[in-house]
Amino acid sequence: MSGLAAVRAVALPRTCVDIAQEHMRRVGRAGHEGLALWVGRQFGERFQVEQTWIPVQRHVRTDDGVCVCIEADELHSINVRLHREKLTLLGQIHSHPGRAYHSDTDDAFAIATAVGSLSLVVPDYAARPFALAEAAAYRLDARARWARVPGNALTQLITITD
Ligand SMILES: [Zn+2]
Repeated sequence: MSGLAAVRAVALPRTCVDIAQEHMRRVGRAGHEGLALWVGRQFGERFQVEQTWIPVQRHVRTDDGVCVCIEADELHSINVRLHREKLTLLGQIHSHPGRAYHSDTDDAFAIATAVGSLSLVVPDYAARPFALAEAAAYRLDARARWARVPGNALTQLITITD
């Protein structure tokens, strides 16, 4: 197994969590979903998150609710920057107005597309402090499906570090 699928342990600095949560909470106050990316470096089965990126994002209100869109040129910029800084995109985190789950839109338009990528969804516009137990987590499997990561597996996978 190679690439992100090999990762068994993620070290996630508290500051990287806070930057994402603060962004999601801030846009959530305006009734928007927010999205952040976690990037870093992989060392075999370990992944060290080093930075949180807040991509340029467009907030769209639809009949079904709200969603957050990243335009193609921003996606391109993200990939250029990853390549230039020799960083790997581990995954993404975004907020929902209510319940945390991966919607069909989330499945179809995920920014993280490598097998083994993570996607976390936090409920209630990130109004409360971040807790792994409250997040719904998914990982892209070899069949290109976002498979739910159960809570106990998630807390084994991700360690929030100070
Ligand atoms: Zn969503």
